Amino acid sequence: LPRTFVLIKPDAVRRGLVGEVLSRFERKGLQIVAMKQVQVSGELADQHYAEHLERDFYPPLRAFVTSGPSVALVLTGDQVVETVRLMNGATDGRKAAPGTIRGDLSLSNRENLVHGSDSAESAEREIALWFPELEPV
Ligand code: ATP
Repeated sequence: LPRTFVLIKPDAVRRGLVGEVLSRFERKGLQIVAMKQVQVSGELADQHYAEHLERDFYPPLRAFVTSGPSVALVLTGDQVVETVRLMNGATDGRKAAPGTIRGDLSLSNRENLVHGSDSAESAEREIALWFPELEPV
């Protein structure tokens, strides 16, 4: 089965929404194969968001993602990459559809609670970065 990487971001941890987010993935039928709380460093943020380093929104995004603990997950299940992206909803919480995590719980395009890998290739790159202790597939 495919795997994906999910980051439950510091806004979700601060707001006490870790259980809510995990519970949505579990109720959907996805399996948690790895999970840990992480204090993200600036260096890890830069590696994770390598494609965004030059964007105007990156400095505040870097400050946000390093602002407190996050919870990193590896999930598996049928079409897990696409399923998680659908469940997360559009990037901007103000535009995300009701029923999605962001649509139900966020009003921000930065503090949008979750990250999910955008492809199988990104998922394997991100799993190797965040969970070097896991076997590559
Ligand atoms: P993610 O990669 O976190 O799942 P995404 O793929 O929907 O989100 P990206 O375009 O990859 O969105 O942006 C990565 C993250 O950068 C977003 O989740 C959000 O936190 C932040 N971000 C993106 N665009 C903006 C913006 N215009 N203003 C502020 N923050 C932004």
